[in-house]
Amino acid sequence: MRKAVMAVILLGIAFLIIRTNLIITDKPEQSPCPDKDYREICGTITRGETLFDIFKRYSLDIKELFYLKEASANIHKLRELYPGRPYKIIVDENNKINSFTYWINEDSILNIKRNESGFCAEKKDVEYERRIKHIGGTIKDNLILSMGEGKENLMLALQLSDIFAWDIDFTTDLRNGDTFKIVVEGFYLDGEFKKYGEILSAEFLNNGEIYYAYRFEYDGKVDYYDAEGKLLKKAFLKAPLNFRRISSGFTGKRLHPILKIYRPHHGLDYAAPSGAPVSAIGDGTVTFAGYKGQYGKLVVIKHPNNYKTYYGHLSKIEKGITKGIKVTQGQIIGYVGTTGLSTGPHLHYEIRINNKAVNPLAVKMTRGTSIPKPLIARFIRLKSEMNAQLALIIPPVFAFAGENKNSRLQ
Ligand SMILES: [Zn+2]
Repeated sequence: MRKAVMAVILLGIAFLIIRTNLIITDKPEQSPCPDKDYREICGTITRGETLFDIFKRYSLDIKELFYLKEASANIHKLRELYPGRPYKIIVDENNKINSFTYWINEDSILNIKRNESGFCAEKKDVEYERRIKHIGGTIKDNLILSMGEGKENLMLALQLSDIFAWDIDFTTDLRNGDTFKIVVEGFYLDGEFKKYGEILSAEFLNNGEIYYAYRFEYDGKVDYYDAEGKLLKKAFLKAPLNFRRISSGFTGKRLHPILKIYRPHHGLDYAAPSGAPVSAIGDGTVTFAGYKGQYGKLVVIKHPNNYKTYYGHLSKIEKGITKGIKVTQGQIIGYVGTTGLSTGPHLHYEIRINNKAVNPLAVKMTRGTSIPKPLIARFIRLKSEMNAQLALIIPPVFAFAGENKNSRLQ
């Protein structure tokens, strides 16, 4: 009796080991299959590793590797394997391949199985389980740090910054103690969280002002709308230095540059690292691109309604940005530098209306399109559903030592 119990426990442990291997093994390991005649080899491709290496390590028949490659040639070439991607080989008691599985990317799996005539390959979609996740956060220093570690959290931070890019400049507007709430799709495999999908709704409390975003689809177009059902997109972005673009050039601890903003004259100066990409604030036509006195390398864009924007002290003007060229909102037009009359790398940014410089921070752009009347009822239903979910999220509370007043230099 006791032996039987032990056997069940051991089997359970063995099963757990296999399950764990499937998901997180770094080094290839051999594990006994619950099915006694088969052996399972699971692992994750390491840098520079080839299937040949793996076959040699486990004394598998190199001829079979050739057949595997042949079988999958039209579906996915096995010549190149990518580091970090999991694989699984099942072999029978004679060390013959029964099946070979390789995760081509996050969304598809290559599956090669033995049949009567040899091997047969197919590509399958990874079947994730979709769950709705609630995420709440409080800003501590910057958005990326406040979202938590890991690639998925970084992607979520960038997605959030893209959604609110017309209202919030995530490099200079954030204050310690700002809060965010996000309702987002989460994709799971075997009960384990794998990745985020789309943000369905979000709430951002920035410096006492509250912003909402609701993902809404009609006529095959998906966009984010505010609480009034108006498109979050506006004619001008909040800032010419895009948070996603600025953040992507940095790694590790330097991933989160905090920019400073200064207003010494008719315009804004963004202290930013040299080489940081500068984006067109809105659609328009380039009226100047070249060197101009104190501005150094300068790009001027003319927008509708007699608006013009100036981007000065650039280290480099983007290729193809020349007089007469049309640019779209967010397009890279150049890179931060210190050309002209400048003491260090910064972007000089001006908005002119009818050729008169105005304070860019005071320019208020109205929102674009509203959701069409016949769809408003559907939007309101979605909104109240989302609001109910947002209300469940409670961002953490931290104590801050009143440093906020100094966080923006003017
Ligand atoms: Zn300036």
